[in-house]
Amino acid sequence: MQASIKPKPDNVLRTKPSVRTCVVCRESSPAKELLGLKVLNQMLVADEKVAGRGAWVHLRAACLDGLELDLLEKALRTKIDFENQKAWLTNLRLLAQKRVLECVGLARRSGKLLIGLDHIGKAKAHGSLVLCADDLADGSIKKCGAHARQFCSGDELGKAVGRQWAGVVGFCDVRHRGRAFFWWNLWEQLSFVA
Ligand SMILES: [Zn+2]
Repeated sequence: MQASIKPKPDNVLRTKPSVRTCVVCRESSPAKELLGLKVLNQMLVADEKVAGRGAWVHLRAACLDGLELDLLEKALRTKIDFENQKAWLTNLRLLAQKRVLECVGLARRSGKLLIGLDHIGKAKAHGSLVLCADDLADGSIKKCGAHARQFCSGDELGKAVGRQWAGVVGFCDVRHRGRAFFWWNLWEQLSFVA
């Protein structure tokens, strides 16, 4: 049987980054700079992407802090159980931390994670994402470089890579780095609820 040759789909439009409008400040930005919001059983849920009716908010403290019931109900056109904004944002920060640690674990399992100060030089050279534990000694933090980002405790970071403790990790591939940065950025922007 002769194989049919299908024309290749036009990828031109696909490579164009999609743009979303923030529900709080009304500014438009590339989708990867915004968090998706939708309603499930009257509860507001957040994720990197949302299917169906959704809203978007910037990964910025001011925009996240501006999430209010009236605004959300209007944008999502439904009743939402959102009485306690502070509690919701606190849970969102926990989710962000969990997601970063998942990325750390996934990168580790696929051999794309550098662990420990001795290996981080390589990550820095690649312009990668370096996360250091908040209980790492000051001198060691300096050695991680100016772009190193402080994150959770060394115990938690260690758990994600199957060790008792880890002071610093570096992502050396684009995919894990991108996701980890998205969630780390959200976690960082939500520092005001901590
Ligand atoms: Zn905004």
